[in-house]
Amino acid sequence: MIVSSCKVSTNLHMAALSKEDQAILENAKTNFKSNQVQLRKWNKQKPKDLDARFHEAHQKEFAKKDCLSCANCCKTTSPIFRQPDIRRMAKALKMKESQLIARYLKVDEDDDYVLQTSPCFNLLDDNTCAVYDDRPLACREYPHTDRKNMYQIMDLTAQNTLICPAVAAIVDKILVVKNS
Ligand code: SF4
Ligand code: SF4
Repeated sequence: MIVSSCKVSTNLHMAALSKEDQAILENAKTNFKSNQVQLRKWNKQKPKDLDARFHEAHQKEFAKKDCLSCANCCKTTSPIFRQPDIRRMAKALKMKESQLIARYLKVDEDDDYVLQTSPCFNLLDDNTCAVYDDRPLACREYPHTDRKNMYQIMDLTAQNTLICPAVAAIVDKILVVKNS
């Protein structure tokens, strides 16, 4: 089974974020270790209500989040490009698949195709995606906080608190409820 996810680069573009989002990410960085410990516990414990808690927090957070004023995922991480993603995107860009791979992609340590550089070559100045309708599955599913069996991706979710202000806020909210 292919797990769609995004791969982290160290190329953070904090300046482009709002002050509020920067503060949320800074806070997530400070709390990273303790958050990771709790998320790893949930990975082992598989709490029955974990999906419901994440999904409710996800709905609330993305109801108010404007991704076009952020785009930090597209600026700092790479999705995994599966073969169908490459085929669809090459067609949208009117390129040969081999050209797209040679110009923009590389194979990483897990044998997945990922971006050679960040930000993504499809990201436009207004933070929209040039191939939005044909973007990779991993982009469609990011940041994965509304999927089933959340316990399976607790490490990925911890990493995503450093990239996505919405994930940082979601995890924060769930942990506050747990600790109150
Ligand atoms: S998914 Fe997260 S990182 Fe990506 S644009 Fe939306 S809030 Fe920002
Ligand atoms: S393909 Fe589009 S949505 Fe995916 S990382 Fe690139 S700009 Fe972002």
